[in-house]
Amino acid sequence: MENISELKSLLAIPKDIVITSHRNPDGDAIGSSLGLRHYLEQLGHTVKVTVPSEFPVFLNWMPGASDVLVYDISTEEVQAALKKPDIIFCLDFNSLERIDKMGEIIAAGKSKVVMIDHHLIPEPFADFVLHDETASSTSEMIYDFIKLLGDLGKMNLSIGECLFSGILTDTGSFKYSTSPKLFRIVADLLELGVDDVKIQNLIFNSLDEKHLRLLGHVLFNRMEVLEEFHTVLIWLTKEDYENFTISRGDTEGLVNFPLQMKNITMVAFIHEQPTITKISLRSKAGFSVQEIAKKHFRGGGHKNASGGYSYIGLRPTMRMFKSILPEYQSLLLNNDI
Ligand code: 5GP
Ligand code: MN
Repeated sequence: MENISELKSLLAIPKDIVITSHRNPDGDAIGSSLGLRHYLEQLGHTVKVTVPSEFPVFLNWMPGASDVLVYDISTEEVQAALKKPDIIFCLDFNSLERIDKMGEIIAAGKSKVVMIDHHLIPEPFADFVLHDETASSTSEMIYDFIKLLGDLGKMNLSIGECLFSGILTDTGSFKYSTSPKLFRIVADLLELGVDDVKIQNLIFNSLDEKHLRLLGHVLFNRMEVLEEFHTVLIWLTKEDYENFTISRGDTEGLVNFPLQMKNITMVAFIHEQPTITKISLRSKAGFSVQEIAKKHFRGGGHKNASGGYSYIGLRPTMRMFKSILPEYQSLLLNNDI
């Protein structure tokens, strides 16, 4: 960030600050937002964390999670919060479209906007930008940001627990996007007192029975292996949502399971949400799903984890997904894992 000193002087006086992160918030969205909030509060700022839609229940234990304002639930409160804060931080996304109506309010407002993000191809909507595609997570970048401001001395256990959670979830428990720098940061977080085993249990071993039943249902009844493309397609219908009484956050992680099969390069998970049909894409090694998400599904993301959506409903989206596979066949088959 070239204009870091300008931001530093803005932050020298207590400000009214809103932090926002993307729709379908994940561990990194909530972890980076709450980690930054705990830091900014120590500087004397008034901080609200807002997101467009609900986050998974396994993040409820995080310090400050119960104060997060969800646009879908507390619409008027979020609208009021976004009207005229001094500064708005946009974390873990880089296109205002990722925060739905909240993005329109931010674009129309006069607040200073700070973007901190690790996704590919950022859009130029912020006054201050910290962007690093090599970072494992936005949570790692919040640590970098605090360091840039010369404030590592202000790190505390709450910040550490939130950032550790974001790093843990965005690296798939340290399976990808890792680096020596990341492990040094994690070592610092553990020295603050972060209990890594406790957090792994809170995040990964806290499912309800219905989540495992749903996983069984998806793998048994809603999975198609497209062998000639080294691809797996899984899906959920509106009726599945009703039958298993699941909400949006409950499907987190399903898309990763088929990657455990040998010779599978890509997995797509397609499911219906109230107004859109959502697609999540995952891949292994060199095969990039980012381009597919961007070109065919109005989305984007990372090389090995991207997503997007359509307005054409479940079955047509599934057909559309299958119809684009021949275009990528040789890349899918020649992916060295
Ligand atoms: P997920 O499949 O878990 O919803 O998302 C995986 C990644 O894909 C996210 O971290 C995000 O980078 C990206 N992504 C998901 N949905 C969208 C979308 O609608 N638009 C864009 N630009 N990226 C998305
Ligand atoms: Mn992230």
